[in-house]
Amino acid sequence: MNHDVIVLGAGLAGLAAARDLAAGGADVLVVEARDRVGGRVEQTALPDGRPVQLGGEVVGRAHTAYTALVAELGLTLTPSYVADPGALARATPEGTGAGDPPPWFGPGDEARHRKATEAFHALARTVDPDDPWAHPDATALDRLSVAGWLRSEGAGPAVVRLWEIGRLALADGSCERTSLLAALRKHAAVPVPAGGAGPYDHEAWEGLRVAEGSATVALRMADGLAGRVRTGSPVAAVTVRRPGRCTVRLAGGESLTAGAVVSALPVGPLRSVAVTGVSEERLASLHRQRQAVAAKFTAAYERPFWRERGLSGLSECEGILGSTWPQSEGILSALVPPERYGVLLGIPAHLRTAELLAETARLFGDEARHPLAVHLRLWGTDPWTQGYVTQWTPGDVMAVGPRHGTHEPPFYVCGSDQWAAGYMEGAVRTGRAAAKEALRRG
Ligand SMILES: Cc1cc2nc3c(=O)[nH]c(=O)nc-3n(C[C@H](O)[C@H](O)[C@H](O)COP(=O)(O)OP(=O)(O)OC[C@H]3O[C@@H](n4cnc5c(N)ncnc54)[C@H](O)[C@@H]3O)c2cc1C
Repeated sequence: MNHDVIVLGAGLAGLAAARDLAAGGADVLVVEARDRVGGRVEQTALPDGRPVQLGGEVVGRAHTAYTALVAELGLTLTPSYVADPGALARATPEGTGAGDPPPWFGPGDEARHRKATEAFHALARTVDPDDPWAHPDATALDRLSVAGWLRSEGAGPAVVRLWEIGRLALADGSCERTSLLAALRKHAAVPVPAGGAGPYDHEAWEGLRVAEGSATVALRMADGLAGRVRTGSPVAAVTVRRPGRCTVRLAGGESLTAGAVVSALPVGPLRSVAVTGVSEERLASLHRQRQAVAAKFTAAYERPFWRERGLSGLSECEGILGSTWPQSEGILSALVPPERYGVLLGIPAHLRTAELLAETARLFGDEARHPLAVHLRLWGTDPWTQGYVTQWTPGDVMAVGPRHGTHEPPFYVCGSDQWAAGYMEGAVRTGRAAAKEALRRG
């Protein structure tokens, strides 16, 4: 059967694209490798019914594409952990502490941190997130790492360490291996109020969550696409012919045909799909993108006992965990950042939970050793994800180039990796934009 459009991948991007294509009257089919939809959003439930998010979880008010979709789907946005009372905890090799400034700050470091933050915000205002390549100093800013730039601004090791612990808390790449231009572009993509405390505004990026569970956004879209989503169908090859005659070959050998193809695959798995009929330049740009590999750990308890210690559950850590935060009442989420993912894999599998709980107990006390349930999701080595969020090391923005996020009709590209900053917002925003462009071109 010939379809108008075949969408590759049933993550948030693919589902958002397919939903709009179907609403626009297109005959659309989504093909998905896994036996479930959602991709990097996935949830399970505790015996007591509480949902647990194993992937993407929080968004911010500035994530307008995602929040608009949530409203259209009749789901509810509610304040996230950012509104929880209590102090931020920090666990470092020297010990565990709470609140700001961090214990390693000496005289003058707070002023140096403020100065660097202001300089970062000012520089970000000179970058167009949709066209960072147009910046007059694009090449130089891209070559520089965030840490290198901080040192050049006189920030000093204590400030670099604070920025580093913050980046690894987000499971982003190290400041030493992140392009300054990419960091500025991400910052410019989500306007934040002036005078923010640091390089990352938690309220703007993470102040909200979907009360029904973030994976419900994907499930709700898939419900509306009943009969148009084929799970358990990995794509092996795509052939694009103009005008509008495309073939999608599944790993099992079956061939499907369509007038157009929308790829909503993460950049890692996409490299294993043989694509022909798309320009070498477009493919080279796509294949040049990389991902930060990360793992997510969740521990569910009867109650948020950390509050009795005056802690919010949010933490930044220099152990194997990079951060923790309360996902919902009594449930802690945690991320293992790319710099420590190899260390996590090195732990014999049967010891991993105990070691991660021991780190959690360092932060919040011995009660943390006795959860009702834990989940460890190794996204970085999951064959259908091969990562976590898009990562830009020095030189990557220029190497990927202005083809980033662009289409070559009838081959359209979307997915969070195709936005300036990744995230669920990037998935929804680029998915809907790809559908709009495909519908416009008929
Ligand atoms: C642990 C974790 C925590 C996160 N936390 C947040 C957060 O709090 N807030 C936030 O905004 N973002 C967060 N993110 C990022 C966010 O979840 C993702 O950016 C977003 O969900 C990606 O959506 P996508 O549709 O672009 O890609 P995916 O969700 O990766 O979807 C791609 C789909 O393609 C499928 N696929 C892959 N290869 C093939 C193939 N060959 N054939 C067919 N199908 C294939 C995959 O199975 C998948 O379903 C997090 C991600 C992770 C992993």
